[in-house]
Amino acid sequence: MARIIDGKQIAKDLRVAIADDAADLKKKGVTPGLAVVLVGDDPASRVYVSMKEKACAECGIFSDEHKLPAETSEEQLLALIDELNNDERIDGILVQLPLPNHIDENKILETISPAKDADGFHPYNVGRLVTGKPLFKPCTPYGVMKMFEAEGVDLKGKDVVVVGRSNIVGKPIAMMCLAEHATVTLCHSRTQDLDAKVRAADIVIAAVGRPEMVKGDWIKDGAVVIDVGVNRVGDKKLVGDVDFEGASKHASAITPVPGGVGPMTITMLLYNTVESAKRRAEKQ
Ligand code: NDP
Repeated sequence: MARIIDGKQIAKDLRVAIADDAADLKKKGVTPGLAVVLVGDDPASRVYVSMKEKACAECGIFSDEHKLPAETSEEQLLALIDELNNDERIDGILVQLPLPNHIDENKILETISPAKDADGFHPYNVGRLVTGKPLFKPCTPYGVMKMFEAEGVDLKGKDVVVVGRSNIVGKPIAMMCLAEHATVTLCHSRTQDLDAKVRAADIVIAAVGRPEMVKGDWIKDGAVVIDVGVNRVGDKKLVGDVDFEGASKHASAITPVPGGVGPMTITMLLYNTVESAKRRAEKQ
């Protein structure tokens, strides 16, 4: 049976280190600051934002909340971002997605200063990631890389199959694995013979958003399986993109859903904010 990769514990350990770093920075007169902007009252977004605020407080990070009504105009939001870009107390800016339809999401993300882009979605930071000189790395894939580190999984020379090519998970995780010298296959909805590709993988990363679509018998004996997917089935139950029971019979290690990749995402947002504050402290 596979070893369970405990994302909750890895995230907890990382948060202790983040809080220590934040405390050191405070002694130097730099309190790490994260601005969180929420537009509208989407219930899921509200939950995420309050989780982020709580996590900031626990790690000694100043959290600057901006909860704006759904009818906020694009101009008003752009003006707020401009203000935050110039606010010296702020090291990271997070705009909670999705935004209301009348606001151009790309325009907003591209207005965030690349030096405060704690989510790593600005094209400048995407470009830096692709060229191997990252400034901010997107939180969920960065969290996966931290899990590999914590678990002692060496990617060098390994065949990694990523299922899903989104800008927030699939593409950046592929780049990060490539930077660690893995050979990466990036699969998507038009990929042919997906099962054969997954069967050949030493490491499988699933980020699709389809409940248990990666079957247990696709997993090579001894492979490491990272399941990024979060899917609600029925009233309450959450399942990943991988058939956990079936895959556990073949994998050497696997992340559960929930309790796997999920807890890493907010942790990496805090991590990115503190790293940005360190850069501010260096400039003082
Ligand atoms: P997207 O919907 O943006 O992307 C899904 C990707 O899966 C697309 O590239 C799509 O291909 C591909 N895909 C869809 N169907 C198939 C198929 N049958 N075979 C192969 N590939 C397929 O999703 P995200 O990347 O945003 O999220 C993926 C999952 O990860 C979701 O469950 C989401 O909830 C979860 N997630 C979890 C996070 C966490 O913190 N744990 C954070 C972010 C996401 P194509 O490009 O061709 O359409």
